Amino acid sequence: MIEYYSTEKKSPNVSFKEAIIKGLSPDRGLYMPNQIGKFNNKVFEAKTFYETAFEVAKILLDGAINDNDLYEIVKDSFNFPVPVKNVQGNIYVMELFCGPTAAFKDFGARFMARVLSYYLKQSNSKLTILVATSGDTGSAVAKGFYKVPNIDVVILYPKGKVSFLQEKQLTTLYENITALEVNGTFDDCQYMVKEAFVDDELNKKLTLSSANSINIGRLYPQSFYYVWAYKELKKITGAEKIICCTPSGNFGNLTGGLLAKKMGLPIEKFIAATNINDVVPEYLNTGIFNPRPSVETYSNAMDVGNPSNFARMLALYGSKEEMQKDIIGYKVTNDQTVKTIQKVYKDYGYILDPHGAVGYHSIEQFLAENKTDLPIVFLETAHPAKFGDVIKDAINIDVPVPEILQDALIKEKKSIEIDNHYNTLKEFLLNRKSI
Ligand SMILES: *Cc1c(COP(=O)(O)O)cnc(C)c1O
Repeated sequence: MIEYYSTEKKSPNVSFKEAIIKGLSPDRGLYMPNQIGKFNNKVFEAKTFYETAFEVAKILLDGAINDNDLYEIVKDSFNFPVPVKNVQGNIYVMELFCGPTAAFKDFGARFMARVLSYYLKQSNSKLTILVATSGDTGSAVAKGFYKVPNIDVVILYPKGKVSFLQEKQLTTLYENITALEVNGTFDDCQYMVKEAFVDDELNKKLTLSSANSINIGRLYPQSFYYVWAYKELKKITGAEKIICCTPSGNFGNLTGGLLAKKMGLPIEKFIAATNINDVVPEYLNTGIFNPRPSVETYSNAMDVGNPSNFARMLALYGSKEEMQKDIIGYKVTNDQTVKTIQKVYKDYGYILDPHGAVGYHSIEQFLAENKTDLPIVFLETAHPAKFGDVIKDAINIDVPVPEILQDALIKEKKSIEIDNHYNTLKEFLLNRKSI
């Protein structure tokens, strides 16, 4: 059986079930599998996205859920298309925004919600999911867990720092979903959530779980679509190897790709694209990891000053030198983001969202320094309509909001405003009516 160790190495190993329920380990480390299986032919032969995902999930979970139930979980989680399209030359885009919240976090959130619900049903227990969000995580998690029995979701988001549409998505579900509007930054929200998980008094009264990208149940599904990208590009171009570019904030999305590579996916290189919150590209260039407060940008879901999955990246590679062989990092400014949106629309008719634009510009930086004939695919992590203001200013186009998101727009926002101190959160959690 695969066990899960903490990246801090100061807590005991746990099962997959425990790792997904706990989220963060007691020593504040992140859970990682102590064995990573290798891909078999079935992974490459599977036809649809969900069948591919099932074959990968089977290897990763190694029997933690029986095949029949896992198949149903995967099929229900990924019931939307995952298009891979050419933008120009050998640059391709994989559109990860076709799920119910129009962002890639649907993959992780939907899979995790179904796996958790499967385990809770078995033990008839209750759970509070606590999430800090810089925008998209919250809505994906909220939608993923909406009305799931025995689960209560509390979302913390930084007041005034998420887009209008993102806020609507967070605050208009009601039912088992509560939105806390924090007077502070995303880093404050993340800090408060992390404190809650290590607070003994609180954890005696509530079973808390995290659905942030630190949860292994969110990480795994983020490896599935790298396999899909490879298979689609092989069909289109015949290439045996690809290069992947991942716009990154907490680096869960990129770590999903690293995992796929460890399992045997032929990815020649990862391009880690960030906005000016470039802690990881800086580490890759200088060897110094220097977390710092985040700075606001147009690609706000990547405004992260202390990327939590960096611990997993280190666990996978062991040293900076090994990491540098696989990953190259670039940072992109707001100005470059806007110019890229303008250029790619004018020259190729493709509308990038600000996060995708950070990815695209990083590829341009990569190509200015490196020659390659391999297909390069970047992950479009959100639908451009979710960042309508930036797009409107850049190219003077009103991107129609996908139908799937329009519901939230007409509903009334319901949130509870709190300050950015951990004790305020604790009081709230202890005093609210239990589910
Ligand atoms: C969360 C998010 C990212 C960053 O993903 P990480 O896994 O945190 O690196 C990028 N783009 C969008 C739209 C997101 O919501």
